[in-house]
Amino acid sequence: MAYDIPTRSGEKFDSDDESQILDAIEKWLDRDVKDKVLELEHADAYPYEMVEQMKTLGLFGATISRAYGGLGLPSSTYAKIVATVSEVWMSLTGIFNSHLIMAAAVERFGTEEQKQRYLPRFATGELRGGLALTEPNCGTDLQAVRTRAVRDGDDYIIDGSKTWISNGIEGHCVALLVKTDIEIQPRHKGMSLFLAEKGPGFTVGRKLEKLGYKGIDSAELFFDGYRIPAKNLIGGEEGHGFHHTVGGLELGRINIAARGVGVATAALKAATSYAQIRETMGKPIGQHQAIQTKLGDMATRCHASRLLVEDAARAYDRGERCDMEAGMAKLFASESAMENAAECMRIHGAYGYSKEQHVERYYRDAPLMCIGEGTNEMQRIIIARQLMERNPV
Ligand SMILES: Cc1cc2nc3c(=O)[nH]c(=O)nc-3n(C[C@H](O)[C@H](O)[C@H](O)COP(=O)(O)OP(=O)(O)OC[C@H]3O[C@@H](n4cnc5c(N)ncnc54)[C@H](O)[C@@H]3O)c2cc1C
Repeated sequence: MAYDIPTRSGEKFDSDDESQILDAIEKWLDRDVKDKVLELEHADAYPYEMVEQMKTLGLFGATISRAYGGLGLPSSTYAKIVATVSEVWMSLTGIFNSHLIMAAAVERFGTEEQKQRYLPRFATGELRGGLALTEPNCGTDLQAVRTRAVRDGDDYIIDGSKTWISNGIEGHCVALLVKTDIEIQPRHKGMSLFLAEKGPGFTVGRKLEKLGYKGIDSAELFFDGYRIPAKNLIGGEEGHGFHHTVGGLELGRINIAARGVGVATAALKAATSYAQIRETMGKPIGQHQAIQTKLGDMATRCHASRLLVEDAARAYDRGERCDMEAGMAKLFASESAMENAAECMRIHGAYGYSKEQHVERYYRDAPLMCIGEGTNEMQRIIIARQLMERNPV
């Protein structure tokens, strides 16, 4: 029986739609992805063919409203997609995830002209990109960014650099956080967000080498006298860039938490199977209580993470403030991914250390979820602050 799922945009969406989409994603993963992951992962190769398939599935427009050519999915459904894909290869989710956060900034805060100009092309995947916030000198403290935009007639001239930008090489554009006023206090009032397309003055540096999260490109970006039309200032008014960026972080955190659910679940499934196959002392290792306690904890972490993500996503879809819920989901699910990946490796013994299997990848991928979209140290602080704000004495 179908039941209504709330969407932030008020579009109609029901559980049958959700089942159909998840079914299509699972079939794609089985048919076109699973057997190719090991090869692409170890070659650190960009999955061009899969990107074309993701376009066909509509993933680049998953959370963009139907009015602009997207699927208009509620974030609760989108989080399930992210978890499902992450179970197979977490890297793939980064290709559409940061792209969709960029799109969300345009859809939530852009002018109607900007929405018309960009969202339909974002939705098809013709124009893809990400979020360019972090700089060599700052990640957590975004108000310290040094990339500067100075008005020049109908344009701005941008100088500075960004680093660790997902989709920086393969993407076509970024939502770019800059300073438009370096004097003003508080510092966030001098920040603006631009939709920056690649062109003269906007160059890409080296591809960064990483522990995990292979396949997807993470890059340095350089802006040297980069001229951008003023009509690309998101929302059309200076000084709102920090607000626009933070406004996208709730969704970003729900997405990262969903990735954590995917990796934690992949580790649980691999461990549960292996525990029934591998024998020591004349019985499957899953019959030893030392292994059972690990599986028990791993399963509980997965279930709790999934519920936290669902809870945060539903609050987001209802249009409620949910930084505390998104922070809790991100914190718990990413730490669960770390713990489950480590336990999965222990349960697999030497095979868990083999590059011929997937288990070691979970162990390399999990830490990213503790760092990206606000470190877990910051999540704890956000949760505590919200706790006191919501419970004043
Ligand atoms: C693979 C990968 C992909 C990424 N993709 C992107 C991307 O697409 N776009 C983008 O803009 N960025 C991206 N990032 C950057 C990421 O968002 C930052 O790494 C993250 O925000 C942390 O910033 P930092 O690395 O500068 O650490 P810092 O801010 O220097 O923090 C260092 C340590 O200090 C702690 N800390 C900092 N401030 C406080 C405080 N006030 N209280 C307590 N502890 C504190 C942190 O928790 C951390 O443990 C990516 C990073 C990685 C690794």
